[in-house]
Amino acid sequence: MKFETLAIRLRMKQTGEKEHSSPIFPTSSFTFDSSEEMRAAFSEEIEANIYSRYSNPSVSEFENKMAALEGTETALATASGMSSIFTVFACHLKQGDHILLSQAVFGSTIKLFENFFSKWGIQYDLIRGTEITQWQVAVKSNTKMVYLETPSNPALEIYDLANFGSFCKNHGLLYVVDNCFATPYLQNPILFGADLVVHSATKYIDGQGRILGGVIAGNNEVIAPLIPFMRNAGPTLSPFNAWLLSKSLETLAVRMDRHCENAAKLATFLNDKTEVKYVNYPFLESHPGFDVARLQMKAGGGIVAFELKGGMVAGKKLIDHIQMMSISPNLGDTRTIITHPASSTHSKLTLTQREAVGITDGLIRISAGLEHIDDILEDLELGLSAK
Ligand SMILES: *Cc1c(COP(=O)(O)O)cnc(C)c1O
Repeated sequence: MKFETLAIRLRMKQTGEKEHSSPIFPTSSFTFDSSEEMRAAFSEEIEANIYSRYSNPSVSEFENKMAALEGTETALATASGMSSIFTVFACHLKQGDHILLSQAVFGSTIKLFENFFSKWGIQYDLIRGTEITQWQVAVKSNTKMVYLETPSNPALEIYDLANFGSFCKNHGLLYVVDNCFATPYLQNPILFGADLVVHSATKYIDGQGRILGGVIAGNNEVIAPLIPFMRNAGPTLSPFNAWLLSKSLETLAVRMDRHCENAAKLATFLNDKTEVKYVNYPFLESHPGFDVARLQMKAGGGIVAFELKGGMVAGKKLIDHIQMMSISPNLGDTRTIITHPASSTHSKLTLTQREAVGITDGLIRISAGLEHIDDILEDLELGLSAK
C-alpha cells in the first residue's frame, strides 16, 4: 500500500462494537482471567497488555503506523520529542563513548550533552557544516554514534543522508536522524542507511499545535535495547495523545502537500523583495543543498528562513507589523508562525555564539501554515513594507 493509504487504513483491531474510527484506551492497567494467564503475561509467554507504562492499544496503534510510514520493523512512542531523543542516547551510549552531533541540531539536544551526558562520562563533539570531511576527521576510536537533523532548524542545512549512511557504515557507527522537519511523508532516512529515526510528533505529525509527542523508529535489533528503559523509566506517551496523533497521521500527506506548496510560494515571493538579502528554502535552486534535497526529499518542507537587509531593527519591525501570523516559537501548525530568533529564542546568546549556529540578526523563520496563501503573503507584505 502507498503512504496515504497506510496512514489511513492501518489501525488496531476493531472491538465488538464495530466502530469505524479507532477508540481510545484511557486505562492505566489491564486485567487477567486467571492467575495462570497473569503469570504467562508477566513471563512474556503470551503477548498481553499489562500496564500502560509497558504497552497500551492506543499507543501501539500510533507506533505501528509510524513504523509503517518510516519503513522500519518497529517504533516506540514517547511523551515528547526530547524524551525520544534522550531515550536513544541513554540506551545506546555508555560511559567512555563518544558521539558526533551536528552543531545545527535542536537546542535542547545539545543541552542534554552539555548538562547531563557529559557529567555521566559521555564525550561529544559538535560538528559545523554538512561536508562529510569535517566529520571524518572528528571520528575517534571510541566514537559510537552520529546524530544529525536534515533540514536543520532554523538554518535549513541539508545533509546528504546517503553519504552519511556510508560514512557511518564504514566506521561502524550508529546513525541517528531527527526527521522532524521532513516527516516520513517527505523523507525516509532508513532508505539511506539510518539506523534510528527520531521525531518530535509535536510538530507536523500532530500538525495542529495541540499536544506534545515523540517517536523513535528502527528495526528490532536497535529498538530492543530501548525497551527496558521505556518500561522502567516511563517516558510514556498518553493514550489520549497517541489517539490524537494516529488521527493526525490520516491527514499528514494532504497537510504536508499544502504546507510545502505555501512555503514554496512564500520563498518565491521573498526572493523578489528588495528588503530581503537572501532566502533559504531547500527547493530553491540558490540553496547550497538543492541537488541533495531534490534527491532525498519529496518536496521542500514547510519552513522558510530569510535574512532581512536591515538586521535586528528590521527583524523586530517586521514582527511588530504583521497582523495575522502567530508570533510563537513553535512550528508545523495549521497556523502560520513567524519567529525572529535573534530577538527571541536565541536572544541570550552573544552575536558570535548566534552566528556560529547560523542565526544572524536579520534572520526570520516562517512555518507556513494551511491558511490561504494570499492572506499569508498580504500579511507578510504589511510587515515588510512597514516604515
Ligand atoms: C521541537 C523539536 C524537538 C523537540 O521536540 P519536543 O516535542 O518539543 O520535545 C526536537 N527536534 C526538532 C528538530 C524539533 O523541532
